[in-house]
Amino acid sequence: MASPVAAQAGKLLRTLALRPRFLAAGSQAVQLTSRRWLNLQEYQSKKLMSDNGVRVQRFFVADTANEALEAAKRLNAKEIVLKAQILAGGRGKGVFNSGLKGGVHLTKDPNVVGQLAKQMIGYNLATKQTPKEGVKVNKVMVAEALDISRETYLAILMDRSCNGPVLVGSPQGGVDIEEVAASNPELIFKEQIDIFEGIKDSQAQRMAENLGFIGPLKSQAADQITKLYNLFLKIDATQVEVNPFGETPEGQVVCFDAKINFDDNAEFRQKDIFAMDDKSENEPIENEAAKYDLKYIGLDGNIACFVNGAGLAMATCDIIFLNGGKPANFLDLGGGVKEAQVYQAFKLLTADPKVEAILVNIFGGIVNCAIIANGITKACRELELKVPLVVRLEGTFMEKKGSYMHIKQETGNSNGNITGIQENVTHQNLSKCAISIFLC
Ligand code: GDP
Ligand code: MN
Repeated sequence: MASPVAAQAGKLLRTLALRPRFLAAGSQAVQLTSRRWLNLQEYQSKKLMSDNGVRVQRFFVADTANEALEAAKRLNAKEIVLKAQILAGGRGKGVFNSGLKGGVHLTKDPNVVGQLAKQMIGYNLATKQTPKEGVKVNKVMVAEALDISRETYLAILMDRSCNGPVLVGSPQGGVDIEEVAASNPELIFKEQIDIFEGIKDSQAQRMAENLGFIGPLKSQAADQITKLYNLFLKIDATQVEVNPFGETPEGQVVCFDAKINFDDNAEFRQKDIFAMDDKSENEPIENEAAKYDLKYIGLDGNIACFVNGAGLAMATCDIIFLNGGKPANFLDLGGGVKEAQVYQAFKLLTADPKVEAILVNIFGGIVNCAIIANGITKACRELELKVPLVVRLEGTFMEKKGSYMHIKQETGNSNGNITGIQENVTHQNLSKCAISIFLC
């Protein structure tokens, strides 16, 4: 049976839509539990690429229509391509709430760039990969357009099933790669790379050939693939996707689009890259949570979930679904939290007006139950909690200072409204009790 949360968590899928989903057949659960990866805008990715010998078009970035017009003039190109900068793909076929169709436009006239940019900047662009209402465009890329004689697909990613990096390519690029994978799986080529040995020239050449590059274009494509792989490794990327990876009638292999995701665990050694993180597309509450090193995911039900660990988060959401409830969100404490973070977590959870009850489900390991209990009591006291609270603590220091009793007494002091310790909490009695603490 499909996990109910997998069916429900559209919001999560939005974050994950940025990854080529067709590659992860059967591993949706794994993807759902992954942390958010840092994503850069196309112009930022292309800057990294061009700094590392990968061929991209000349471009400028603009955040006003006037700047876009000036950039178009300065480019002094035969043709210009104007591209809305949002983190989701499918921009070419997207629609703006200004009425403008297409997030990617080609024109020979710089004045048209100015007019189009006016209908892009400040408006929402909706694509297949964005929420229905779209994502606000704050910047546009103004680039020198090149003729494209052939569009292929190339990606490099860390793949669990390969236990390391894999090159994925298709001679049918430009289009929706998921569709190619579904209708013509024989047109998807993979090349597993040994991370210790690095990419072999024979592998890059074979991929170039599979992508349909011939003659001198083959070794040029192989050279670009090698440079892309070396960049992937150097910047601790989890994914580099180029669609289209194209060729021009003049015989050049060019990366026309770029999407790079990063491993958040590498932040400490990729400071420059992480400093580029554009948080403007995040929900404000997600940014607020990130400040305290908490992971917040908004969903559309009414029960707030306060958990530690992505696996427990998923299981908790499933339990809520299976009992007829719907999670309003979940907040993942992660490991090694302090009391103050527990307090902040409660503040975030209760700020959501949809929340009608809070379920705390914590497995105490490194985060021990006493820390959580102290954090909860502080939060209950100071935030004057108005909604029912159900707490389950299990694991390290479960009994310390009588963690449960502690919560019970302290929270009881704040509103005197405890219904007592309940052994079994169901969706039905959840709404009736002010504060329930149940033991396992
Ligand atoms: P996406 O729709 O978000 O994936 O944005 P892309 O950057 O891939 O652009 C969409 C499509 O616009 C590409 O597949 C190309 O067909 C086309 N395109 C983008 N840049 C150029 C260019 O410089 N020249 C030409 N001729 N077409 C381009
Ligand atoms: Mn593309």
